[in-house]
Amino acid sequence: MLVLLVEDETKLASVIKKGLENEGFTVDAVYDGAAAYERASCAEYDVIILDLMLPQMDGLTVCRKLREEGNKVPILILTAKDEVTDKVIGLNAGADDYLTKPFSFDELIARLRALLRRGRDLKPENLVVADLMLDTSTHEAVRGGKRIQLSGTEYRILEYLMRHPNQVVTRGVIEEHVWGYDFVPNSNLVDVYIRYLRRKIDEGFERRLLETVRGEGYRLSAGPGGRVSE
Ligand code: CA
Repeated sequence: MLVLLVEDETKLASVIKKGLENEGFTVDAVYDGAAAYERASCAEYDVIILDLMLPQMDGLTVCRKLREEGNKVPILILTAKDEVTDKVIGLNAGADDYLTKPFSFDELIARLRALLRRGRDLKPENLVVADLMLDTSTHEAVRGGKRIQLSGTEYRILEYLMRHPNQVVTRGVIEEHVWGYDFVPNSNLVDVYIRYLRRKIDEGFERRLLETVRGEGYRLSAGPGGRVSE
């Protein structure tokens, strides 16, 4: 799960980031509204945690602009303001939830999980590409009746590929989605994990689903007339 954290108090941002990472989230942190807007427009986040009082562009404007563009990413507003009117303004600007500082970390996690569940309700629980099925609640894959256990990173890569079937997905997109912007460039982690995945989902099967598109990236291909969920 990829989280965009927007908080200009860098100490607080780093505490939240660490806490979320301990809970298994991938976190990109930015410290002003303009950077938040830019990131959110070009990358696919599962949820955004958005402070309101921010340099360069305030949180409400970020929220409003994203919604105007049809961006439906769940947004949790996090702010020191506790006036009811601010909550109403925030929710009217298209935010999904609202948490007032100081807050308990447990409450933040609970609200994030609730938002993510709500988002997931709109997406199918089982992703299907050709004869490969991925259960997004148990994180288990099944192909040809064979149950396949995946590590957390393998799951995140496979889930992304299965949500974008038959499309070329670049290494950069995978890095960004699975590791966030902390990814060390020029490392071959993506290739390593793609190899692990191939071994698990393709080895022993006649048709290879996970294709390398030379010089571009990877594609999970359903094949001619192949079945795809969604
Ligand atoms: Ca602030």
